[in-house]
Amino acid sequence: MSNEADAIIVGAGLAGLVATAELVDAGKKVIVLDQEPEASFGGQAFWSFGGLFFVNSPEQRRLGIHDSYELALQDWFGSAGFDREEDHWPRKWAEAYVAFAAGEKYSWLREQGLRLFPIVQWAERGGYLANGHGNSVPRFHVTWGTGPGVLEPFIRRVREGEKRGLVSLRFRHRVTSLRMIGDTVEGVRGEILEPSSVERGIPSSRTVVGDFDLKAQTVIVTSGGIGGNHELVRRNWPERMGPPPKRLISGVPDHVDGHMLEVVANNGGHIINPDRMWHYPEGIHNYAPIWTKHAIRILSGPSPLWLDARGRRLPIPLYPGFDTLGALQHITTQGYDYSWFLLNQRIIEREFALSGSEQNPDLTGRSILKTLSRVLPGAPAPIEAFKQKGADFLVKRTLPELVQAMNELIGEDLIDASELEQEIVARDLQIANPYGKDAQVTAIRGARSFIGDKLIRVAKPHRILDPAAGPLIAVRLSVLTRKTLGGLETDLSGRVLHIDGQPIPGLYAAGEVAGFGGGGVHGYRALEGTFLGGCIFSGRAAGRSSAQVIV
Ligand SMILES: Cc1cc2nc3c(=O)[nH]c(=O)nc-3n(C[C@H](O)[C@H](O)[C@H](O)COP(=O)(O)OP(=O)(O)OC[C@H]3O[C@@H](n4cnc5c(N)ncnc54)[C@H](O)[C@@H]3O)c2cc1C
Repeated sequence: MSNEADAIIVGAGLAGLVATAELVDAGKKVIVLDQEPEASFGGQAFWSFGGLFFVNSPEQRRLGIHDSYELALQDWFGSAGFDREEDHWPRKWAEAYVAFAAGEKYSWLREQGLRLFPIVQWAERGGYLANGHGNSVPRFHVTWGTGPGVLEPFIRRVREGEKRGLVSLRFRHRVTSLRMIGDTVEGVRGEILEPSSVERGIPSSRTVVGDFDLKAQTVIVTSGGIGGNHELVRRNWPERMGPPPKRLISGVPDHVDGHMLEVVANNGGHIINPDRMWHYPEGIHNYAPIWTKHAIRILSGPSPLWLDARGRRLPIPLYPGFDTLGALQHITTQGYDYSWFLLNQRIIEREFALSGSEQNPDLTGRSILKTLSRVLPGAPAPIEAFKQKGADFLVKRTLPELVQAMNELIGEDLIDASELEQEIVARDLQIANPYGKDAQVTAIRGARSFIGDKLIRVAKPHRILDPAAGPLIAVRLSVLTRKTLGGLETDLSGRVLHIDGQPIPGLYAAGEVAGFGGGGVHGYRALEGTFLGGCIFSGRAAGRSSAQVIV
């Protein structure tokens, strides 16, 4: 086994695989390193829902959605709120990425076999002014086959490279330092971890059995974010979000440990925007955990009432699916680390989905029949399983019973049943007319004018306390760590910049470790479905441009 190659990739997740595939196309020899066993090949993308951000796609047009580069760019910048000097490269990456999503991304992925579920979803609806946060139109395209379907073309290309003798995949190799000659990176060093037979996503041992020292003309770091390392998340938690939650649960496997950021920083690599992160307030404990503190995110339609710890509705426009960070900030600055969804059986059947490939076996398994059953009465099986077995789900016939169970779960009488009843009755009185003043009910009606929402995602407005729509359901929501929006500063070629602003010769970065491009392409807030696409776009850029400098 040679200790030299043209390029070394640190991290066999989506970004690393895309970069490798591009290097293989250019005929380069690549060593791909990953600290995990082969079972976890593909990293986080395997677990993902496979949601991709496209602009003006054929799927959107078929549903009557009018989208454009200009509208998407306005939404992106309205959400990002770039306001720092170090946002120079992130802004450039944002413009380039939105152009990619409105242009070549669709045909390039389609040529490689990627297919999409025909009903486009509407994530991050915003709810502010036209130039504020959120997607003006549905843009979240779920990949047919979810996360594994996104990985498939790139794994195929990398495996072909392996057959041609161009790719050497080395698992259980953990990079701990960069090999430098002067200020130039010319390889990596690290530890070989003991073999591990754990299944995908399960934490693997960190027992060291050897070391390695590898040389290459270029090194591309694609090691992911920090979401699995709660100590790092807390350290980077911004003051504007209130105190970091005492209790955090994990939306990512343990390997998302962020250690590689420190390795690059030790050699002068510039980490920017570390305080920008994308964690979700709608986390529930997985009743069958795979990784440590395994959490699942509820992707809800707009109808559940979102209540704070004391049972008060969150302020407008913090309805489910409108403004992730706005809701998170509201909850954490109130001094609590949890909130509630309150809904009923009719809403859960239509509006609850869970993020993750394993929670959507119909789409992941590409079963048309099972996917069609989403329109039938009854909650999808994974939702029903959580309803029955999940520690956070409470189901009761009457509101007083439900509130009692909520208070018991928390161990404190924080919610007053009669106050909450008044709140819900007031909301329910708004249903009698097809118009009214409750902004959430108006938003639900607005959503249903989009055919996709009307068909499969948003329940017809009805009284929450209507016994015919029951039983009532409360779900305790915890803060789930997921994406890292800041990271290594890179130029449009994916070259990592030194703290002095110059590219570090031989060093590239892509994917989540690079804030999905530039060190923070999303700014403060993301439009969703932009992370996998960000790995693809930045991995492709780093692979292609590094191939050009290899002699
Ligand atoms: C449940 C879930 C649902 C999601 N749904 C979506 C979605 O619908 N749409 C969307 O856009 N995004 C989604 N995401 C986010 C997206 O999947 C990730 O942001 C993306 O896959 C990150 O890819 P990456 O290649 O940058 O890093 P990773 O996938 O984290 O891969 C990095 C790899 O580097 C390895 N590594 C780290 N450090 C070292 C080291 N020192 N030495 C050697 N190897 C190292 C790790 O073991 C890992 O295999 C979801 C994520 C999850 C977990």
